[in-house]
Amino acid sequence: MQIADYIRAIPDYPKPGIIFRDITPLLADGAAFRQTINTLAERYRDQGVTKIVGIEARGFIFATALAYAMGVGFVPLRKPGKLPRKIVSQAYALEYGEDTLELHAEDITADDRIVVIDDLLATGGTILAAVEMLTKQQATIIECAFVITLSDLPGAQRLEQAAIPYYTLCSF
Ligand code: 5GP
Repeated sequence: MQIADYIRAIPDYPKPGIIFRDITPLLADGAAFRQTINTLAERYRDQGVTKIVGIEARGFIFATALAYAMGVGFVPLRKPGKLPRKIVSQAYALEYGEDTLELHAEDITADDRIVVIDDLLATGGTILAAVEMLTKQQATIIECAFVITLSDLPGAQRLEQAAIPYYTLCSF
């Protein structure tokens, strides 16, 4: 079974000229979703992982399932204004404008060994902001993992240049 076979390409969504990679067929297929999570759980077994960090919103789906499968905690990186306790935040540039990720400050500490999960790596802006914030918390980042990497965009290269380890289940 190839995970890539369960990703649908949606032309001109959300804007003309963009091919959106839709992960919902992968989620809707029990065997494919389970294989996705089991592949990640196997990869990070025996590495002293303490927490799986997921990026809002689609990253949560994979990160929570992985945390459950591994029996470790899940920590969300959220869009602004959603977390009620003391936060740390990291702004990052979008194609037009800016966005911010927020983390409950006490949820990640120097004792943590983490895997950071998002559904897709494109320009790398989101994951680089996440890594910067988690590095400030002094956590050890074992790896950043994605279901999909868009290989015609610079995210993978930016991670390599920054010596940030990453893993992807498929590429388009
Ligand atoms: P980046 O910051 O690397 O440019 O973009 C990655 C973020 O955008 C991820 O959080 C991802 O959820 C979202 N994203 C961008 N394009 C797509 C797409 O085609 N499909 C999906 N599923 N997510 C996308």
